[in-house]
Formats: sequence, structure tokens, C-alpha cells
Amino acid sequence: DIDSFKNINDSLGHEIGDSVLIEFANRLRKVFREHDFLIRLGGDEFVVVLTGNMNKDSLVLIGNKVQQLCEDDFTIVDQDISVSCSLGIAFTELKNFEPKLLLKQADAAMYQAKKVGKNTFRFFDATIANETQYRIFIEQGLKSAIKNNEIMIYLQPVVHSDGSIKSAEALCRWYNEETGFISPEEFIPVAEESYLIQSLGLKVINESMIAKKQLNEAGLRDIVININFSEKQLQRQETSVIVKDLLTEYGLSADEFIIEITESTLHCNKSDATIVALRKLGFKFALDDFGTGYSSLSRLQDYSVDILKIDRSFTHSICTNTKQKIITEAIINLAQELDYKIIAEGVETYYQREALVQMGCHVMQGFYFAKPMPINEFIRYAKL
Ligand code: C2E
Ligand code: CA
Ligand code: CA
Repeated sequence: DIDSFKNINDSLGHEIGDSVLIEFANRLRKVFREHDFLIRLGGDEFVVVLTGNMNKDSLVLIGNKVQQLCEDDFTIVDQDISVSCSLGIAFTELKNFEPKLLLKQADAAMYQAKKVGKNTFRFFDATIANETQYRIFIEQGLKSAIKNNEIMIYLQPVVHSDGSIKSAEALCRWYNEETGFISPEEFIPVAEESYLIQSLGLKVINESMIAKKQLNEAGLRDIVININFSEKQLQRQETSVIVKDLLTEYGLSADEFIIEITESTLHCNKSDATIVALRKLGFKFALDDFGTGYSSLSRLQDYSVDILKIDRSFTHSICTNTKQKIITEAIINLAQELDYKIIAEGVETYYQREALVQMGCHVMQGFYFAKPMPINEFIRYAKL
């Protein structure tokens, strides 16, 4: 599987993407023998079937050879494009094996190669088998969890240094009778890979609106709710229509919510239309995990968001790493000059809070103030 092929297509266009595929296939051909099967499975996925006297060592050699194919840039219409690929290898010594299973195993190993940072290869083994099974368990379980109301949201306060609560981030929780709480960090990526993110996202939006109504009824109108939107959700244009209908249904307005997105969403052309439509409805946007991923300060001028959420990795090191502190302070100043509001995430200690206030950042979120909690508890907390 070619790494980040989608980026090549999105940024350079499909014609260049096609040429990359052709060049990649030509290079692949050179590694294999006449009687090997080289197949393009679809998109940027290729499969090679090798038979004969193979063992792990000989397969490692082949894995390396394939990886070396991409060492030289691909030159396509005067452009030098750097390409890499990830490889999954599965093999069997049985005469009577299930070809489909072998293909699935290779796919799981490829997935693992991507997960450890791409541009490498992995063999299918017992660990991967377990992980794959776990992923299937999550995927299957999530489907019924969404139906059976096992998904709920917790709220975490976003507080101002003057003590007031500005907003509450809705964080989804999955409670399963047998396994207990399953972390969103485990099931969101699985949901994103399947179509499930759509119904999960919808569930979260729905729950967030119910929570907002409860806040309003409790006299906490000023506290807006931050909702996390995944890139996949925003790629679908109907999302803005669904959200609009929900607002009407609940009698709420867009300015009672903030939508949190990540930088990759912002750089993905496919989500532009939905973002524009949601902005038109009156939603404000926050850029989550700012400082990780692609962020480049020069891009700050064209971000179409209102708030930057400084990632907790910055907050974490401001009291221990002088350079990191200088960088964080510079980001805060620059962002404020450019009229962004700032939220610092992951504040865990009094000293981090003090340091941030000194840097001019007054809005924060983190365990130092409160952990995410169920709505009723949040209402009690906010009324204290
Ligand atoms: P995130 O959007 O960056 O959310 C903040 C995460 O940091 C939450 O983890 C929160 O519990 C945690 N956190 C808050 N304060 C502190 C702190 O002081 N220290 C540390 N170490 N952590 C802190 P959580 O709830 O496990 O969520 C993890 C991630 O899962 C979220 O990261 C977000 O990317 C994703 N996620 C959660 N709920 C949703 C959702 O409804 N939709 C989507 N698309 N993604 C979600
Ligand atoms: Ca967030
Ligand atoms: Ca975040």
C-alpha cells in the first residue's frame, strides 16, 4: 500500500496520482520473477503472491527490496515526488491453506506497518492476530453500543483564570457491561476506519444537544459545549443539514456550541464545504491539538477557526523545558496578535496554571481543574 497516497491525489491531482501508480507498478515488476503474481487490488493497494521455497529470511530480503524501490523520488512531469510504501507479509507452509485468510493476514500486517509509522514492512504474527481480533471486537461491539445506549458523553470544564467556566468539552464514553469503560482513543480510530464514525458522531452531537438543554434549564446558559468532529464526519456534506435539523428539533442555536477539529481536517479539501456550511449556521470552530501534526506558524494567517487549543504536550513541558516554554509563549502571543482565542489543554498542576497565566493565556482545561464527568455531576460542579 502506498503511504499517504490520498495526499498525493489531493495536493497534486488525480492525473499525477495515476502516473505515480503506473511508475510504482513498473518498479514493483522489476523485483519479482516472471511466474510470481503481481496484482493491483484496487486504489493504491498491490498484492504479490509468491510460491516455492520461501522462508522468513528470503521474505525479509524481498521486503527490503520493495522498500528500496521508493528510495529514489518519482519524477512525474518535472515534479520530484517522494513516495513510500508499507508492506504486510503473511506466509504459510501448508499445502491446503485458505487464500482469503492469508490475504487478510497480510492486510492486518500491512495495517501494523502503517501504524508503526509507515515506510516499512511487518510479518503477520500472534501479536497482530490478537490486535486484529481486538479491532474486530471493538468494531462489532461499537455497532451495538451505539444502538443500545452504551455511548454517552462526559463534560470537562474549560475554565477562565477568573474562576468562571467558559465552556464544556463533550468527550464520548463507551461503557460495556463486560469490559467496563473503553477509551475513545481505542474506539474512535476504529470507528473512523469504518462507516461507524457517522452514527457515532451523530450520537455524540445528539447527546451534546441534550446536555446543552440540561445546562440551560439549570441556569448555565453561558456555558457553551465543545463537540469534537472527526474528519470523516465533515467530509459528508449532509452532516451540516443533519446538525441544522437537530438544532431546530432541540430549539437550540449554533452559537451555543463550538466545533473542535484537527489540522488534518482543515487541510482536507473534502471537508471545506461542510465547514463553510456550519460556519454559516453560526458555529464557531476550535483547532484541536494545536502544535502537533502539520502546524506551521505561517499557516496561522489563513486558518478559518476562532480558537486554538494548545496541545497538552506543550502544557506538559512548560515548567521543565525552557525552550518549549519559549515556543509556547511565542505561539500564545502570535496567536493572540492574530485575534485567535487560546485554550491550553492538559493543565495538571498549579505551576502549569501559573506559568500559562503569566504567558497571557487565561483559558484552560485539564485535570488540575476537573476531569471529564457525567452531566449531572458537571451541573453540580458548575454551580459550586
Ligand atoms: P482531545 O479532543 O484532545 O480531548 C482531550 C483529552 O485529554 C480527553 O481524553 C481528556 O480526558 C484528556 N485530558 C483532559 N485533561 C487532561 C489532563 O490534564 N491531562 C491529561 N493527561 N489528559 C487530559 P479522552 O476523553 O480519553 O479523549 C481522547 C481523544 O478521543 C480526544 O482527544 C478526541 O480526539 C477523541 N474523542 C473523544 N470524544 C470524541 C468524540 O465525541 N468525537 C470524536 N471525533 N473524537 C472524540
Ligand atoms: Ca478535543
Ligand atoms: Ca486536544
